[in-house]
Amino acid sequence: MKKQFAVIGLGRFGGSICQALAKQGMEVLAIDTDEDRINKYASIATHAVVADATDDNTLKSLGIRNFDHVIVAIGDNIQSSILTTLMLVEQGVNHITVKAQNDYHEKVLNKIGAHKVVHPERDMGIRIAHNVVSKNVLDYLELSDEYSIVELMAGGLVHGQTIIELDIRAKYGCNIMAIKRGDQINVSPQADEALKRGDILIVIGADSDINRLEQSLF
Ligand code: ADP
Repeated sequence: MKKQFAVIGLGRFGGSICQALAKQGMEVLAIDTDEDRINKYASIATHAVVADATDDNTLKSLGIRNFDHVIVAIGDNIQSSILTTLMLVEQGVNHITVKAQNDYHEKVLNKIGAHKVVHPERDMGIRIAHNVVSKNVLDYLELSDEYSIVELMAGGLVHGQTIIELDIRAKYGCNIMAIKRGDQINVSPQADEALKRGDILIVIGADSDINRLEQSLF
């Protein structure tokens, strides 16, 4: 059965989630107080309704608790975002993901029972900062305050060397989880695997160790 999603708030963030879900063939209910935004998404979402999500009865009449996953993408109006999240938690929605505007907002959302809080501007800022510091850092995924996964493009410094020669685990405390070479992906690279310029290494480790590795070899 198709998964049912509801997206509340159709700004840039909620709108792009709505579009991406619809593209993947999911059922999407789009909710916004703004009629123009609803008109824009009427042909993209499965259903699009003008409604105020802070209203308990409105959410009930939309049958919100039957949705598999509800995404709260209300932007600047932190009060509405918190109130909506609280209603969803109280109505027993299974999965609630909420976009936070700042750390304080994130803290409140976690406290009241949001299942996942995302911080797209902050996360994208971190990723871009890593990417601009070294053009060989392709992507960056924060796992926790301390640990991350990073995609590094092999350049001249590592070309021709094997994993054991580079000794990344002992010298930098990081692990190479996989190597992407063209269309191929090797998920358990052997120690005698020689790297080539253009290989993409997927590395996991502590942020400080990854920084040292980036600065020394990439
Ligand atoms: P972004 O930063 O992602 O572009 P915006 O602040 O532009 O976010 O968009 C947030 C959307 O959420 C707006 O379209 C706004 O009309 C909608 N919104 C705000 N409050 C509510 C509410 N109580 N119920 C439903 N939608 C809301």
